This record gives sequence, structure tokens and C-alpha cells, in this order.
Amino acid sequence: MSGGELDRRQVVAALLAGRGDLVVVSGLGSATYDVAAVEDHDRNFYLWGAMGGAVALGLGLALARPITPVAVITGDGDMLMGMGSLATVATQNPGNLSIVVLDNGLYGETGMQRTHTALGADLVRIAKGCGIAHASRASTAGEVAGIAAQLQGTAGGARFFSVAVAADVPTNRRSFEELLVRPRTGEGKNRLDDALGYKDFIRLGKEHQMRVVESLYCEAQPSAPPPQADYEALRDEILADLKAAMPVDIVLLMLHGAQMAAGYDDCEGDILERARAIVGADVPIGAELDLHANVTAKMLANATVLMACKEFPHIDFSERAADLFDLVRRARQGEIRPVMAKFDIPMVGAYPTTRQPMRSFVDETHAMEGKDGVLSVSLVHGFAWSDFPEMGASVVVVTDGDKAKAEGLAPMRPSP
Ligand SMILES: [Zn+2]
Repeated sequence: MSGGELDRRQVVAALLAGRGDLVVVSGLGSATYDVAAVEDHDRNFYLWGAMGGAVALGLGLALARPITPVAVITGDGDMLMGMGSLATVATQNPGNLSIVVLDNGLYGETGMQRTHTALGADLVRIAKGCGIAHASRASTAGEVAGIAAQLQGTAGGARFFSVAVAADVPTNRRSFEELLVRPRTGEGKNRLDDALGYKDFIRLGKEHQMRVVESLYCEAQPSAPPPQADYEALRDEILADLKAAMPVDIVLLMLHGAQMAAGYDDCEGDILERARAIVGADVPIGAELDLHANVTAKMLANATVLMACKEFPHIDFSERAADLFDLVRRARQGEIRPVMAKFDIPMVGAYPTTRQPMRSFVDETHAMEGKDGVLSVSLVHGFAWSDFPEMGASVVVVTDGDKAKAEGLAPMRPSP
């Protein structure tokens, strides 16, 4: 009971064209991108990392503000995970709540696996079975217009709509272009503030009176690997900027660390290898990573310093950018000679650093840095959704010229 012809972005634009006072709660993943792409409105409430929570949150808002129309716009994956909330909606039945599920039958964020709606689960019948009398399915632009006209309603009980949308490639050139800063053309200047790490490199370079040559910054929501040509075009733009800037003293890259593309299992290793080929062996290359990276042999072989953020949730990209800048600058000046070692941790999981035992581990890595020749210790959590042999958690230690010491410390074993 899923999938259709409608373009999800056009559906959401049509739903929100005359939104008035409508409060919109968007479910994590594509729906949040769809809603933000229409307009970053004060009454948008984006959910991120809250899978299954969109309807429950919308219900709470609708009950708290009974005369304010509230629309939950989410995907079938989020709805399936929070299905129990439909039963609660039915018992409360607020007339100011509308639920719109953009149903493509796919878990977009984790790589386009089929959801239960692609295998026969019928969300409209489930909503009706829960007791939401006003539940229907839309698959044409005319039917979507009909839904839009009902979103302002505040009486007559809650409404549930399932809209059959097309299963397009969720991560492609368009996705990256939406979150892109291209200094050469001035595109995305207003997005620079969100480009943590990257914007810090630029600021620090200027503060140190360096000649700063900025290249492309872009990001996209994780999903299935993007098409090969899309990745190569963006990569080649960065490499062309680097070539044009030569000779350079240092290279700083803000990378996620777990990107894949069609034909490339290790995009960051590929970028680092090509950057190394351009600048030669003597120019220090530093890369800041999201801790959800998969650190590969190719990345280690071609970077001078790899440093991951330490906190999950990620609140320290700017601090780590400053640490990395400092190490790479000192390496250039010959003050230090960074060498790296990696220890693989055979675990797959999510490890918030706000809780124990992760909190102590992170504090320990901080305490080790800056003394006894230890330059940096990164606890890299890995990105479990990357299906390739080098996926996994690791510790990356950078020492000053002492490879054996780096190798000895990387396992993070408590001292006897
Ligand atoms: Zn992350």
C-alpha cells in the first residue's frame, strides 16, 4: 500500500502553500528536509533523531493549543515505528490535528530498505481500526489539494492522510546542493554559520594571517549511496580548487568520514588520496571527522592528522577544528611530527557520550592529549549503516613522532 507517482517536494509545497497559522511537526529524515525546503517557517517544528515520535509530539501540541491547527508531516518509516500513537490520537481525537504520511514504502535514511507498507501494511486501515474515522489515501495532485484545504480545520476530530509518493533517489546532487556553500560563486553564504568545522578553519586561518583559499562545503542526509557522477562532480570541484591554489602550506578538510557513493566504498579515503597526490608528501593534510566515521587504511595513509569530534550529540566540531588547526600548523612549522595509529574495536552500536561509561572514556582522551608526546586521541564510533569491510569503531591516536607509542595507546587499555 505504498509508493506512487507524486514528487514528495511538490506534495509538501502544495500542502503548505496557504498554511496561515498552521503549526507543522515534521518527522525525522526526508520529511524534515521536505518541510524546510518549502520555507524555514517559525511554526515549523523539525524532528531529528526522534524516530517514531512525530505523531505523539503533534498530538501533544494539538491538545495544548486546541484552537491552533497542527499538522504532522512524516514518512511511513516514522509512522510505522510510532504506530501506537494513532490509537492515542483516536481516543483524544483533537479536531485541530492532521497527520500526513508521505508513503514511499522505503526507509530512506538507512539506505532504501522496503518498509512494511511496501509489504502490505495499510496505514489508512490501521488508522481507521484505531478509531480515526477521517482517514484516507491520496495519490493524485487533486487529492493532495483536498488535504491542504483540510489542514486548517480545528473541529470534527483528527484526520489521517496517507499520500503515495514516488521513491526517488533520496541522496543525489540535489540533496547536496540544498546544503552547500560555494565561496567561488557566493552560493549558500547564509549557510556558512551552520558549516561547523569548515567555517572555523576559515576563521582560524585568517586570524593567523594566512592566505585562505576556500573550497566547497556541502552535506546531505544519509541514505543510499549517491550516484557515482554526482559524487565525482563535487569531489572534483574541491580538487580543482586545491590545484588552482597550489602551492599551499597546509590543507584542512572537514569530512564526515563514512561517505559512500556508487563505485566508492570510501569517499574520504579517495578524496584524501587525490589531495595528497596534488600537494605531495610534505604538505600536512588535516581532516576533521564526525565520530560516526569508518576510519580506513587509505584515510590513514594519506592524511597527516585525522581527528574526530569527541561528543555525541556533536557539540564540539568547532573546538576540534581549533585543535586540528593547531596541530597541522605546528606540523608545517616543524614543531611536531604527527604519526598515527588505529585500533579497531569489534563493536557496532550507538554510544552517547553524555552517559557512562562513554563520559569517562571521553574525559580520559582529553586528559591524555597535550602531554608525553600525545597529540590527539579520537574515539571513533563507526557508522553501522555502511556495508563494507572497513566499517566499525576504532581509536585513532596521534603522537609526536612516536609510532610505537601511538600503537600502544590506541587499544585504550587501563594501565596495570
Ligand atoms: Zn555523527
